[in-house]
Amino acid sequence: MKARRVYADNAGTTALSKTALDAMMPYLTESFGNPSAIYSAGREAKKALESARATIAEAIGARPEEIYFTGCGTEANNWALRGIAEVKAKNGRHIISSSVEHHAVSHTLEALAKKGYEITYLPVDEYGLISLDDLKNAIREDTILISIMTANNEIGTIQPVAEIGAIARERGILFHTDAIQAVGHIPMNVQEMNIDLMSIAAHKFRGPKGMGVLYIRKGLYVPPLLTGGGQERNRRSGTENVPGAVGMAAAIKEAVDNMDENVKKVTAMRDRLIRELLKVPYSRLTGHPEKRLPGTASFVFECVEGEAMVLTLDNAGISASSGSACSSASLDPSHVLLAIGLPHEVAHGSLRLSINETTTEEDIDYLIATIPPVIEKLRAMSPLWEDKLNEKS
Ligand SMILES: *Cc1c(COP(=O)(O)O)cnc(C)c1O
Repeated sequence: MKARRVYADNAGTTALSKTALDAMMPYLTESFGNPSAIYSAGREAKKALESARATIAEAIGARPEEIYFTGCGTEANNWALRGIAEVKAKNGRHIISSSVEHHAVSHTLEALAKKGYEITYLPVDEYGLISLDDLKNAIREDTILISIMTANNEIGTIQPVAEIGAIARERGILFHTDAIQAVGHIPMNVQEMNIDLMSIAAHKFRGPKGMGVLYIRKGLYVPPLLTGGGQERNRRSGTENVPGAVGMAAAIKEAVDNMDENVKKVTAMRDRLIRELLKVPYSRLTGHPEKRLPGTASFVFECVEGEAMVLTLDNAGISASSGSACSSASLDPSHVLLAIGLPHEVAHGSLRLSINETTTEEDIDYLIATIPPVIEKLRAMSPLWEDKLNEKS
């Protein structure tokens, strides 16, 4: 098969959509005013910013005044957790989360634990799902926040967010969700799902990098992480990223408008990829077979090193990831794969292929044709594989 380049790391980041780029271009060039300025160029920028806010609000079932722009998804997560911890400390210092959160949540919770907060990390089953009974049992008098991600960035598992929201609402506890993998890919509605705080990042749905949003339910006060000029209604100081906000709005609108069609197309390609790659001996799918993101196909292959797979695939023209991109500098296997019960040595052989609506059937053909021989080649050099074969005979 003819060599090509296939980008299969859309859970890591995505290419900017043409629609988003076109929408941003005027604000990167001639229309560069500061939205805080009172002269016409400033007012023009302000108008674009507020229009972007309204578009983003509509895409998630929120009101414009509930949308706060941030510098990235990580900032939105930090702000939600640190802000609620601070403002609710008088009611208690207990927070419930899960054992499969992104580091932007888990490392922030670790920092809060050092300051005297108590964190309960709910376990997950073999598919990466929390149990609603565990959640109910973990709730205490002093619980101030439940923070559970909507969809997992490594294995794609989608949590029962609406059910979690209903429990939180009934018990009078705030609910934050890191929906960074979900927004733009599956339907999200903060009203219907009883979400009080939700983190979003534009670059995961073909918007620009360095652009996030924290949705904060009306009436809820979250003290600012950044103080200064008082932008974003005194909640997040710093000159607003107008082109970023405009690009994010264009990308979210495009994603939501085309969601039904994209989900159908992407899910079919994902399932073909899963079906074919599970023909590799000693392979398994990670994450839930059905409750998973349309674009995420994640696996473990025994007796292969994830890192070696990623580098060899790169040479073959494929961009993929192993474990979480952020922890790829560490030798420990991913906390998510350990949380779903995989033994260390198996978790080391993880491969995540994440596709989206820009992926073609030809790209899938190439992945299916290229990946199995790469695994075979790497196994042929592995002493572990030799042991495995001997053990079988
Ligand atoms: C990418 C990602 C983040 C971090 O977002 P940034 O915009 O890169 O800071 C946080 N949580 C999840 C689930 C993610 O996928």
